[in-house]
Amino acid sequence: MSTSALSFAVKKVEESRIHQIDWDNLAFGKSFSDHMFMMEYAQGEWKQARIVPFEPIPMHPAMSAIHYGQSIFEGLKAYRGKNGKIAIFRPDMNAKRFAESANRMCMPTVPEDIFLEAIRQLVSLDQNWVIESPGYSLYIRPFLFATDEFVGIKPAETYKFMIITSPVGAYYSEPVRVKIEEYYTRAASGGVGRAKAAGNYGSSLYPAKIAQNQGFHQLIWTDAVEHKYIEESGTMNIVFQLNGKLVTPSEDSDTILRGVTKRSIIEIAQIWGIEVEERKVSVEEIVTAARSGLLEDAFGAGTAATIAQIAKIGYRDEIFELPPIESRTISNRIKDYMNALKYQEIDDEMGWNFLI
Ligand SMILES: *Cc1c(COP(=O)(O)O)cnc(C)c1O
Repeated sequence: MSTSALSFAVKKVEESRIHQIDWDNLAFGKSFSDHMFMMEYAQGEWKQARIVPFEPIPMHPAMSAIHYGQSIFEGLKAYRGKNGKIAIFRPDMNAKRFAESANRMCMPTVPEDIFLEAIRQLVSLDQNWVIESPGYSLYIRPFLFATDEFVGIKPAETYKFMIITSPVGAYYSEPVRVKIEEYYTRAASGGVGRAKAAGNYGSSLYPAKIAQNQGFHQLIWTDAVEHKYIEESGTMNIVFQLNGKLVTPSEDSDTILRGVTKRSIIEIAQIWGIEVEERKVSVEEIVTAARSGLLEDAFGAGTAATIAQIAKIGYRDEIFELPPIESRTISNRIKDYMNALKYQEIDDEMGWNFLI
């Protein structure tokens, strides 16, 4: 199926709600644009692909997703450059990951060309919602969930795929404080940590809340078996800087979400001649380096914040203060580069921008 042949039924809103948006006080994920995409899966095929006004959807009380958790999602962003054009950052990678998540959760995959074209047409229709202002973007949330009206555990036969979009401003305003978690677990080998499965986030809330009560923003997750190896930070991947090198947990295990942001950071660093090590990263190595002032940088990598530099790391009774943000030359440079790329201020030498 060629992309140009994909045309969806479109029902437009009578009047846009955009004038109701308070752009100076946008809370993340609370406002939604005028339209949404949806299609249904039944009898082994996708049907009724359409763009309709954003509105609540009816739900059967036995809908299988809410009982047994067959539910996955993606997150990506559209950015408007000073040239007026809108670019989406590497959506092909989200399309592939969405299919991997679907496979792991025993759900039907959404063909990549439909995934991309649905995003393109939806963002194009709601293009006024992608404003040209520093830090602003349109967050795009594709999601897929089981809709069988049946209380019984089995792979569902019916599903709904939807895409909603939400205008957002800058995500984190201050450097973050994180705590190394040695009891609770995000993902175990053989589990679903590599999938963007809804349940992974539900299960992370309680441990994160404990950390928040202790004054941290987020957790650094460690491996489920020994809690000796670092995996991710909250809902972001994590990267450290030691001795001028970037060091990050390898994705060989199926407990780490394969982030588009982290992959892009690694690819850029390598092009710049910065050494990158993807390997096991032990808590001991990081704690020892931090204690002796040799941990040069640590940051979370994810679509929401791009790079969220870590100010403090809590470990048992200790709190390590990391070097001042201004001294983090590598992450600052990558962050500036990625932002400039997303807002089309520099040449897209990697071909990462998908222009609408
Ligand atoms: C989405 C996500 C990330 C970041 O992935 P990006 O593709 O860079 O946005 C990292 N870890 C977890 C657990 C995630 O859900």
